Amino acid sequence: MATCNMNMMEKLLAFIREDDPSACRHWFEDIQPVDCVDGVLTLFIDEPVRLKYLERCCSEHFNKAARSSFKGVETVRFVDEHKPGARLVEHETTSGGFTHSGFEEDMLLSPNHTFDNFVVGPDNRLAHAASVAVSKKPALAYNPLFIHGGVGLGKTHLLQAICRTSIENHPSLRIYYTSCNGFMTQFLDAVQEGSLSSFRHRFRSYDLLVIDDIHDLSKRGPSQEEFFHTFNSLYQAGRQIVLSSDAPPNDIPDLEERLISRFNCGLVANIERPCYETRVAIIRSKARIRNLTLPDDVASYIAAKIDSNIREIEGAITKLEGLSLINNSPLNLALAKKAIGEGSRVGGENQLNIQGIIEAITSYFDLKLADLLSKRRNKSIALPRQIGMYLARKHTRFSLEEIGGYFGGRDHTTVMHAVRTIDQRRSSDARLDKDLIRLEEVLIGNEIETASHLV
Ligand code: ADP
Ligand code: MG
Repeated sequence: MATCNMNMMEKLLAFIREDDPSACRHWFEDIQPVDCVDGVLTLFIDEPVRLKYLERCCSEHFNKAARSSFKGVETVRFVDEHKPGARLVEHETTSGGFTHSGFEEDMLLSPNHTFDNFVVGPDNRLAHAASVAVSKKPALAYNPLFIHGGVGLGKTHLLQAICRTSIENHPSLRIYYTSCNGFMTQFLDAVQEGSLSSFRHRFRSYDLLVIDDIHDLSKRGPSQEEFFHTFNSLYQAGRQIVLSSDAPPNDIPDLEERLISRFNCGLVANIERPCYETRVAIIRSKARIRNLTLPDDVASYIAAKIDSNIREIEGAITKLEGLSLINNSPLNLALAKKAIGEGSRVGGENQLNIQGIIEAITSYFDLKLADLLSKRRNKSIALPRQIGMYLARKHTRFSLEEIGGYFGGRDHTTVMHAVRTIDQRRSSDARLDKDLIRLEEVLIGNEIETASHLV
């Protein structure tokens, strides 16, 4: 057996850092080498979520690093028992498909989504406090817990932190996290395979069921029906249910009344867009997680420039990190201005402006601007208006409220309804899809033209 020491780990991590910096996580430093037998290097990590993440997402990086760094080593395996020759942790399932650590095989949580990494501010305080309370006392604090808020504001982060902390606090709890689409797919598969009773048995045996993006349930008749029964069965048995959505229960279009009233019967907590101070704190925290030294003026600059959602803030940090690596220069204000200053695009998406979208719609459908923004509901006007709102939502960073404002002072539920309608119709209506593709070409073409004038 080859001897293992921490130098080995340093070498391995140095290789990964060099090979693909974005794959590195600060907690990789907690990994300990156990032994190296027959070309297999065994590494120990004392945390089920991290172990699973390593197995699912990092094996290739570690294998490559080990092969390149040590002669005779072919693969790396991860274990959670610190014994030489420890069993391969393939998570032999115990009865009911559960692993010894209380959660299921197909459930992947991000190791970064912990309460420790979640920055609390006035905008998310209630949702955070309720999440912590639920993970301390599942089913006794708030049931159901329903968290709603815009895109990229931390809903998934909180839901996953609840799972992770509940596993730590209550190792025997049966926990399952999935997206609403995941639930619906599994349901439809079960219907097709004729295995509905085992699907029901499984979903009704969880102690903590966490379903992300429950607004996707709208209009899905049979799935909604199934979810309703799953919900009732868990609720009546005193099990904890946690849900997230992009809108409060009453504003989810096409949701049955009986589900709305169930969602409202526990705690409904909103996450608002983060204020400036919260954004600065989040930027600092993200930099710390990535081992980046970010001067205060850079953090303030990013926070001032990006006020919509945290995913974009992360995109800006990634872009900045990349620029600093390419240019071999420190992360400073000049670089930040280059990365996210005027005329640059964060996240690489085509950020169009709403005015341009409105112009493209009126000219494409040959409409008067006054009609497009009016209260008229004739189909020939209402459809182009919905398309405009859909494109604005897809290609700009404006909130539902703001988009509603641009399109003749409509409220956010109207915009949300428009976005969903077009999104759903697009897949089944070839003509609409063609119109959208043409409009997107026009818009993106204009944008490239404008950008080339700026350079
Ligand atoms: P949502 O599910 O609401 O669309 P996510 O939970 O996926 O948003 O959050 C987007 C990103 O922003 C994630 O990487 C998450 O870790 C981060 N994030 C969101 N809110 C916070 C916060 N308060 N503190 C730290 N990171 C956050
Ligand atoms: Mg999410």
